Amino acid sequence: MTTTAAEPQAPAPQQRRLRTEIPGPASRALQERRANVVAAGVASTLPAYITSASGGLLTDADGNVLIDFGSGIAVTNVGHSAPAVVDHVREQAGLFTHTCFMVTPYEGYVEVCEALAELTPGDHAKKSVLFNSGAEAVENAVKIARAATGRQAVVVFDHAYHGRTNLTMALTAKSVPYKHGFGPFAPEVYRVPGSYPFRDGLDGAEAARVAIDRIEKQIGGDQVAAVVIEPIQGEGGFIEPAPGFLPALSAWCSANGVVFVADEVQTGFCRTGDWFASTRENVVPDLIATAKGIAGGLPLAAVTGRAELLDAVAPGGLGGTYGGNPIACAAALGSIETMRGADLATSARRIQERVLPRLRALASETGVIGDVRGRGAMLAAEFVKPGGVEPDADLTKRVAAACHALGVVVLTCGTYGNVVRLLPPLSLSDELLDEGLSVLEYAIRVEARK
Ligand SMILES: *Cc1c(COP(=O)(O)O)cnc(C)c1O
Repeated sequence: MTTTAAEPQAPAPQQRRLRTEIPGPASRALQERRANVVAAGVASTLPAYITSASGGLLTDADGNVLIDFGSGIAVTNVGHSAPAVVDHVREQAGLFTHTCFMVTPYEGYVEVCEALAELTPGDHAKKSVLFNSGAEAVENAVKIARAATGRQAVVVFDHAYHGRTNLTMALTAKSVPYKHGFGPFAPEVYRVPGSYPFRDGLDGAEAARVAIDRIEKQIGGDQVAAVVIEPIQGEGGFIEPAPGFLPALSAWCSANGVVFVADEVQTGFCRTGDWFASTRENVVPDLIATAKGIAGGLPLAAVTGRAELLDAVAPGGLGGTYGGNPIACAAALGSIETMRGADLATSARRIQERVLPRLRALASETGVIGDVRGRGAMLAAEFVKPGGVEPDADLTKRVAAACHALGVVVLTCGTYGNVVRLLPPLSLSDELLDEGLSVLEYAIRVEARK
């Protein structure tokens, strides 16, 4: 390719290190081994095999160093191998690795539940139960809501993502790849429109009226056990509802004896610039599901909420062999200690202030970004055909691939596959953030011209 003065120049690596093409020969060899033994149904966004990671950098099998704008899907909020997480995990692994909390309990589980009671929105009496994954937490929130209300219907939204188990597939909106061919799905799940300001043009009150009208006319408020909602939708496209939408829904739930469940699996633990996204509009969920960012990379999840709801399930009705595993609890305590000590909620807001202006400038420069949105370190650009709102999934894919080739891990999302999302560790330095952004800008400039 010949270079003219007008063409964008790829930023020179500073903290990244490009030793080979990405993925390089060592990763490609691993990819061949994988093809023989790993199910095709589990895909990898960027098949560079990681050998170590620290802070916001990933080192692969070929010695390339990548900037991580994905945090393993919003998990390593405290950065890779955060010292407090590693120390707690090492110490706990030397003491004991498992007893099963349902058999012989231990303090770490109780400490995590104490922290959750303190950190989650609202000052009412709260209790928690711990699990292994986000899907498990959401599914159990529904079990709790049904047991507490004696009702069955569950309301979810367009563009929702809640997981891959049978019940959470039913709650999830998008067919391919999450649901296609996996039915039949669980009954008594009802989908209503949410709030997607870029595409529906409604304000929060109007969007809530549409949703509530649908619920009242098609289900009946007195039939509904729970409304389950992501305060900012994740896999569906990083969609932030218009102001007023969440408070209106929450108020309707209170007035109708419906359990308001906030799925904060992706938005939780300082990701959006608050400990939990619900608090931005002073929404106090009855139940809140958390996972991802809770434990710095170890598998842990929780349902936290009103004590009388959690206690509506009889002893033995909730649990699981590994739920609240002692090493995962130790990691969570290290992760929470880090978030508190380093004030990572403020760091997330700083990331927003650094990123959004650059993405907005790029939107007006290139004409291929229809909407720039997000909060804290949960930020996105939605790609469209110039001059309209028609989604451009192909361009989105090319932009992500160009970033990957230059050593920056970005993820895509969205019902239409046309959103590039940024989920950097909250501890990321300004230097790494700027360098990763320069690569993203370059990738968008180059691909938008094609
Ligand atoms: C990732 C995610 C889940 C599912 O979590 P898993 O740990 O993958 O089961 C549920 N809800 C939301 C909002 C998520 O982002």
